[in-house]
Amino acid sequence: MLVDFHMHSTASDGELAPAELLARAQALGIGALAITDHDTLGGYLQVQTPRPGASAPQLYPGVELSCQWAGCSIHVLGLGVCPRDPVLARGLSRLASARLERGEIIGRRLAAAGYEGAFAGAAALAGDSQLGRPHFASWLVAQGHVPDAGTAFDRYLGRNRIGDVKACWPPLAEVTGWICAAGGIAVLAHPLKYRFTAMKLGRLLADFIEAGGRGLEVLSGRQETGQTAQLMRLADRHGLLLSAGSDFHRDAPYGPTLGVESAAFDGRPTVWQALASARQAAPGAPESVRAPG
Ligand code: MN
Ligand code: MN
Ligand code: MN
Repeated sequence: MLVDFHMHSTASDGELAPAELLARAQALGIGALAITDHDTLGGYLQVQTPRPGASAPQLYPGVELSCQWAGCSIHVLGLGVCPRDPVLARGLSRLASARLERGEIIGRRLAAAGYEGAFAGAAALAGDSQLGRPHFASWLVAQGHVPDAGTAFDRYLGRNRIGDVKACWPPLAEVTGWICAAGGIAVLAHPLKYRFTAMKLGRLLADFIEAGGRGLEVLSGRQETGQTAQLMRLADRHGLLLSAGSDFHRDAPYGPTLGVESAAFDGRPTVWQALASARQAAPGAPESVRAPG
């Protein structure tokens, strides 16, 4: 079975509308998935009505939350959360303000670098979607300041560039707690992307688990098999559920495509098994993995 528990729609910085993502997933034969937009359940909420037909994939509510730990910005996926949970809803509105605040800081820094109007331009491009650095990249490209989005990240928006503003996100433990409160499975996203030493990653995982974290994304997009094996060992050692996803944003020549073959994880505890059992156990609350009572 193909699965995909990490992808972005136009509700954040992805290029496909949620319905297009879902249709593509169905065409590819993906059996279970979650749309995990940055800091919003909007992607899920736009397509939550079950699609008719036997081949309709199992769609679970999902979100990719921003937070910070040890001064670094970290992403935690919330899978199978109850979309109406008030604790999560308050958390999401706090993240939306943090995102706006971060956008204003990025805008001021870009203005200081000679690019006036970046915030207004990026916000206009984002429209109703959660404002993110890709919107600033698109604005820089549209204004002719850089040839393409990759260059915008290399020069201004990527790691340790002026647009890399981390300070606004709430702490990891708090954000993980919102996912638990909403009855979801908290999964540490793309663990290798933080470029931590093994020791630091171990400390992050210990804190994450203490906060209620239950899963590790052992496969993220295009990744070397050796790295997947390494992360699977790490998940085993910490007793974490395995998760996997494309982190798809848009069609790109070297970018990931939707869908991950789940057979590679057979015989191990996975988030898709946990989500399916929870859904079966609580059919009255299909969008939540919260245990009854
Ligand atoms: Mn993104
Ligand atoms: Mn991420
Ligand atoms: Mn992502």
